[in-house]
Amino acid sequence: MQTPPRPVDLADDRDPAFQAEVARRSGQALASCYQCGNCTAGCVFTPDYDIPVHQVMRLVQVGLRKRALACRAIWLCATCQACTTRCPNNIDVAKVMDVLRHMARLAGHAPEPNVKTFTDSFLSSVAKHGRVFEAGLAAVFALKSGKPLQDASLGLPMLTRGKLSLTPHEPEGNGKAEVAAIFSRFRFAGQGASRCADQGVSRNSHDDVQRGGKPSGKTEDKR
Ligand code: SF4
Ligand code: SF4
Repeated sequence: MQTPPRPVDLADDRDPAFQAEVARRSGQALASCYQCGNCTAGCVFTPDYDIPVHQVMRLVQVGLRKRALACRAIWLCATCQACTTRCPNNIDVAKVMDVLRHMARLAGHAPEPNVKTFTDSFLSSVAKHGRVFEAGLAAVFALKSGKPLQDASLGLPMLTRGKLSLTPHEPEGNGKAEVAAIFSRFRFAGQGASRCADQGVSRNSHDDVQRGGKPSGKTEDKR
């Protein structure tokens, strides 16, 4: 059973620069959030979050840096973008969650260590092979998470049905080199997969950079 979050105290560790920093990193107009709660209403993880997503947005607005960066919600977010789609103020809420997760890593917060371990293992696999090597990823994650037999019952059926390969299938042609160049661009090839996140580069920002532009916010206007 979850421990209910303690009430927000505005005098608690308030950092007036926090909102501006998150706004700069995400490219989103955070001040335009008027707490309608649409994002939380559409988020399938709301029952699992310690702080619902609209309240995470509020923590950012009022500058409660530690509360926002230490929460579990930003690690459980699946970046499904349901919140982004529902926001009447055109805020890319999922991108904000992404940026907060990256900032949390920089600040040393990882309240969901298995999520961090999985992300690191996934990116390490892609960096090494050019695409994810599922069997290797499963093995590395099982060992690092301290639960070596957790998914063992799934492995054999997947192997016998040809859904899992014991050897990596690397991209053909220049594919592997192109992936390596992406990792190199963010200066974390061969140094552990978490560095991309540690650069404060979100998936969306990364896509923008790949297109040769600056990180941008949500562009379509539903209103
Ligand atoms: S992107 Fe994250 S916060 Fe937004 S709806 Fe999906 S899981 Fe919830
Ligand atoms: S849907 Fe948009 S405006 Fe409404 S609470 Fe969420 S972020 Fe704020």
